[in-house]
Amino acid sequence: MRCCFITLGCRVNQYESDAMAELLADAGFEIIDNPAAADVCIVNTCTVTNIADRKSRQMLSKAHRLNESAKLIACGCFAQRSPKQVSELPGIDAVIGSSDKSRIVEIVKSLFSETERIDDEPELLVRDVMHEHEFEELSAAREGRTRAYLKIQDGCNMFCTYCAIPFARGAIRSRSLASIRNEAVKLNAEGYAEVVLTGIHLMSYGRDLSGEVNILDALDCFDGFENIKRIRLGSLEPHMMTDEIIEGLANNARICKQFHLSLQSGSTTVLSRMRRGYTAEEYYALCEKLRIAFGEELAITTDIIAGFPGETREEHEQTLEFMNCVGFSKVHIFPYSRRSGTIADKMPNQLTNAEKGERAKELITRGKRLEREFLNRYIGKNVTVLVEDNEEGCSVGCTDTYARVIIVDRVQPNTMVSASVESIEELPDGELRLMARLNQLQSLPVE
Ligand code: SF4
Repeated sequence: MRCCFITLGCRVNQYESDAMAELLADAGFEIIDNPAAADVCIVNTCTVTNIADRKSRQMLSKAHRLNESAKLIACGCFAQRSPKQVSELPGIDAVIGSSDKSRIVEIVKSLFSETERIDDEPELLVRDVMHEHEFEELSAAREGRTRAYLKIQDGCNMFCTYCAIPFARGAIRSRSLASIRNEAVKLNAEGYAEVVLTGIHLMSYGRDLSGEVNILDALDCFDGFENIKRIRLGSLEPHMMTDEIIEGLANNARICKQFHLSLQSGSTTVLSRMRRGYTAEEYYALCEKLRIAFGEELAITTDIIAGFPGETREEHEQTLEFMNCVGFSKVHIFPYSRRSGTIADKMPNQLTNAEKGERAKELITRGKRLEREFLNRYIGKNVTVLVEDNEEGCSVGCTDTYARVIIVDRVQPNTMVSASVESIEELPDGELRLMARLNQLQSLPVE
């Protein structure tokens, strides 16, 4: 039987789709890319913005239009938040929320079982995640032969005023240290050189586990596994990066020198209306501490919301100026999106889409300039690259600061090489990459 996955949203959603696909493949299902040829189509939805909701609905309707005979399953955050709305869409056979993804094989098989369903209503398997305390174990997701993603945390207890994720993902839950170790054994045996630890609120890792457990304990689970050269961390919350955590990370030689510290605004007055739990000054001080601990070459990437309700021109300017102060290596910009059920949705002085769009453009332009300034530092320098793939006679990979590099030579994927950077290239989609020549080909020691 052929299954097709369509995934919207964040890295955690992609991870979960990959892990579900692996469960189905292990159960003998064939995983294909074409929904029109599938017997089962599974759409992993997102609800981070109104646009994400709309795209989730559109993707479900399109999947049904493309193949009315296929079984259609909706899962993920939009399905969790709006199960009734989703179940009423044409062709839906089952609605799975944010939990029960590990039961995907059983759920798919039940849709083909002889026992006819009493009525034609879709199966609704949506639990109340707000009272969910068990971390749902799914195995690591592999990307090529070089990088693997491992979800170690789920849920969020923060309730930032603009965000619907806590309502879709529920309370914080952590993967057990034993389970992380088991995954590390498998990934090391399979020769993965880079592991990315992800979660919805990664810095909350361990807070629900007994005893004083935090992200450093999760990292210790990788000790002794020589094949795993790099460990990269997913999105981190600034106000939870304590001196103890910073020191622990700095003492771990495999930690990549790139941190995604979600900022959202460079204006302290906006941050307080967002209830982010930190000020612009505290965020800046944290960046300074990290640069002292990891060196000036540290890459800090971030997310910023453009046009939060009530944001004045002056507050917007503060964010633009703040971006310069920090010197981000990459910035993801999101125009503010009203989310029903959130506090910000009811705030006065909502900006128009045109105003939000205008401000987003300014932030994107600033972000691009900072990204190029960051990459400029590498010109004429040697960098260590973990090669991921070969494209048109060249090799593509990443530095540990997450700079994408094109090496004008063919190198075996999953190999660490030294290369000297000659220039920066802008690809048609606007992505910036370093162009480099191979210095030497050897498995270099851990950086
Ligand atoms: S920390 Fe805030 S923005 Fe992030 S998932 Fe939690 S509530 Fe949403």
